[in-house]
Amino acid sequence: MKRVYMDYAATTPVMPEVIEAMEPYFHDKFGNPSSIHSMGQEGRDAVEKARGQIAFLIRCQPESVVFTGCGTEADNHAIKGVAFANREKGNHIITTTIEHHAVIYTCEFLKSMGFDVTFVPVDKYGMVDPGDIKKAITKKTLLVSVMHANNEVGTIQPIEEIGKITRETGVYFHVDAVQTFGHLPIDVDKLGIDFLSASAHKLYGPKGVGMLYIRPGSSIVSLLHGGEQEEGRRAGTENVAGITGFGKAAEIARQDMQKEADALTGYRKKMIESIMGTVSDTYLNGHPQIRLPNNVNFSFDFIEGESILMYLDAEGICASTGSACSSASSEPSHVLTAMGIPVERARGSLRLTMGRWTAQDDVDKVVEALPRIVAKLREMSPLVKEKCGWIKYL
Ligand code: PLP
Repeated sequence: MKRVYMDYAATTPVMPEVIEAMEPYFHDKFGNPSSIHSMGQEGRDAVEKARGQIAFLIRCQPESVVFTGCGTEADNHAIKGVAFANREKGNHIITTTIEHHAVIYTCEFLKSMGFDVTFVPVDKYGMVDPGDIKKAITKKTLLVSVMHANNEVGTIQPIEEIGKITRETGVYFHVDAVQTFGHLPIDVDKLGIDFLSASAHKLYGPKGVGMLYIRPGSSIVSLLHGGEQEEGRRAGTENVAGITGFGKAAEIARQDMQKEADALTGYRKKMIESIMGTVSDTYLNGHPQIRLPNNVNFSFDFIEGESILMYLDAEGICASTGSACSSASSEPSHVLTAMGIPVERARGSLRLTMGRWTAQDDVDKVVEALPRIVAKLREMSPLVKEKCGWIKYL
């Protein structure tokens, strides 16, 4: 059975060109980039080349890019790093209710250490109001952290407007761009960003490599101490092959970004129109237009997202109910509930995310299978909607 992969927001396959670029650094060019000899210098050159390729994509100087082990580490580094470095200046951090757990749990941790955290709410589309961020800023605020686009519902945040506010008020601005780096244009100066997190495995690079952009002159401490790698900002021998792959993926993304976004926007439109037009009691989650080109997220009343996933999987279609990290949990998505979606409806959610290798055939297969599966599950569902709301048959 041909499998249809509709979970590109969870992770992406690695491009053949990326594998080819990485390959020599596992054997012929295996030197440690900190070694002085020529084999070490081959590794060093590869790391610096990748730094340049990544910097070019977000229009910053290569020295501002610090390689990390993943996007989660980059988020932790930005938030804890600023909080710990600036303790005497303040103790307040602002973020939103729909961030990835890498940000939310880091902020919760800081709360347990005595920091004060404001979780700014979002509207029904998952959009943050920059005015709310402005209102939340106090004399004690050190950092505002807002994601570029949400990993579950795809809503793209008004980053430039928030960046203007943080600049005017002299507060640091961190952006989790894990879902947008390589997919949407980013200019850190134009957007007013001081720290930006990205992860290679979301743009057809390998897993286990991320990066943090750090605006020059920022006050931030390291998370890892040991060697002097990454100018003392992140100790530990560099993952040379992985970093090389990340750089190559960034270079290809620069060339292909627009073409891919246009194709995916077409597929997204087709999928949304088809499903919303054929399946009753269905809701599109996230902003109807201001959303990632590859993201579709529905809620189907009366049924559970997990059941839909299992039936889709049996037909070879791989999708998700929310973020990959929380998909094993039966708790409804914190993103959907923060958007005001009732718990029952949040439980009936399904995320379909497309990418470079998605074809028209794949979309056709989903729009054929999904209505059939939803109808079958609804026939078996103990949940019915009555005029007064939801009831459960005993
Ligand atoms: N932030 C966002 C928005 C994400 O979607 C993810 C991964 O799904 C992460 C952070 C964590 O990235 P990584 O898997 O590289 O740790």
